[in-house]
Amino acid sequence: HQLIQDLENTIQNIPDFPKPGIQFKDITPIFLNPKLYEQVIADLANFSRGKIDAVCGIESRGYLFGIAIAVALDVPFILIRKQGKLPPPFVSQKYDLEYGSAEIEMRTGQLQKGQRILIHDDLLATGGTTEAAANLVQKQGGIVSQFSFLIGLKDLEGENRLKKFNAEVHQILT
Ligand code: IMP
Repeated sequence: HQLIQDLENTIQNIPDFPKPGIQFKDITPIFLNPKLYEQVIADLANFSRGKIDAVCGIESRGYLFGIAIAVALDVPFILIRKQGKLPPPFVSQKYDLEYGSAEIEMRTGQLQKGQRILIHDDLLATGGTTEAAANLVQKQGGIVSQFSFLIGLKDLEGENRLKKFNAEVHQILT
């Protein structure tokens, strides 16, 4: 519909960034258009309304929309950060990258056992980052109920990787 059209016209495709052969999706022009931003948040909030107890956003572009979803739904927002940014105590989760590995972290005690969690990020590619986030949530007794993204890159099979969590998945654009 209209929102998909508007987003397609707004998000920029940058060839060969950050590496040759990779096409980067630049979402920053969305923030030049507050009305469009509002519509994105309304869409993401509608998907999660009544179904979650907290939002976990993935650093850093997951914060740009995640916190607004949480405020719209009047639920807590919990930051998932890259390694080395959070003071202790925190819980961490290692995951594999194309070359090497990485780690994400969350403050201990922010996520309550049994909470239904939305994991949100701007973009789903291989699903590696999101899968690690879901593992981090489960480690603390959270229920991975939903995933949402602005963009899903279908050919990279990120969705397949998330199937094992039996959670709802929403991507505005694929
Ligand atoms: P994945 O772990 O392969 O699914 O990669 C998803 C993560 O990489 C997300 O946190 C995205 O923000 C980031 N990412 C990967 N490709 C792009 C892109 O083209 N534009 C913006 N972010 C990207």
